[in-house]
Amino acid sequence: MSGAGCAQKDAHMHSLLDALTQARQNKTAIGHFNISDLVLLKAVFAAGRELKVPVMIGVSEGEREFVGVRQIAALVRSLREEWGCPIFLNADHTHSLANAEEAARVGFDSIVFDQSALPFERNVRETKAAVEVLKAIKPDLLIEGEIGDIGTGSEIHDAAPDLKKGLTDPEQAREFVAVTKVDILAPAVGNMHGMLHSMVEGQTRKHLDIARIAEIKRAAGVPLTLHGGSGTEDDDLRSAIAGGINIIHINTELRVAWRRGLEEGLAKRPDEIVPYKILPYAVDAVKQVVESRLLLFNGRG
Ligand SMILES: [Zn+2]
Repeated sequence: MSGAGCAQKDAHMHSLLDALTQARQNKTAIGHFNISDLVLLKAVFAAGRELKVPVMIGVSEGEREFVGVRQIAALVRSLREEWGCPIFLNADHTHSLANAEEAARVGFDSIVFDQSALPFERNVRETKAAVEVLKAIKPDLLIEGEIGDIGTGSEIHDAAPDLKKGLTDPEQAREFVAVTKVDILAPAVGNMHGMLHSMVEGQTRKHLDIARIAEIKRAAGVPLTLHGGSGTEDDDLRSAIAGGINIIHINTELRVAWRRGLEEGLAKRPDEIVPYKILPYAVDAVKQVVESRLLLFNGRG
């Protein structure tokens, strides 16, 4: 990686909380991008560094199992220390408390503790207990809770679920945040994980319930995360940020770019066996997607 670091410009941005506070003041959103290898990590970091905006690296339980929990923590920390850039690490969709505790111990900046598949009352109870345990391990850890149904799997789906059934109720959002003491809330507002084939082909887009976002924001009063942002109409994303969304997750669009970039590299260099001569095609393809999303999230696109 080459070029200038970010130490001077972002010296004030020491923590994810600082970055979130600044995003709220600027009416921008922090881009959250899932990674499961060095290609994706390099692409996200380079895009954030070049555009001089904070980025969050997300790793789900499955992605962590592949990359290694301590290993991704060390990689992100080393990038932050060497370059002085605001790059933060999130334990995405963590369903087990043991896995959340492990992420807290190795220094993750935030954890999505996801019990949204449980009935509301149990979700409240288990999330509240997890917040107490995790803050005792790492007091400055930010914990995100989730209510409503946004589906699972950042993959390409054949059919759309009925999103209307699982939309988050603003009054439940208020109660959930007040009782559990989560720092961040992930609501269901028309978003869903994964993309449909028609979205990958660019024929259809996701649309968000903007009025509901604003109502949830007023009721909950905490930063809000939009999960499953891939394939969403750009204008809906702009309105969602104006309505109170502070973090936007993009995963499936990156996975599509990763595969296309890799295929391009293999096709252009059919006899090549040196990974670092093939993989840059994948880095470039992912980086283009990350840059386009970061520009939009930061009011520059
Ligand atoms: Zn998610």
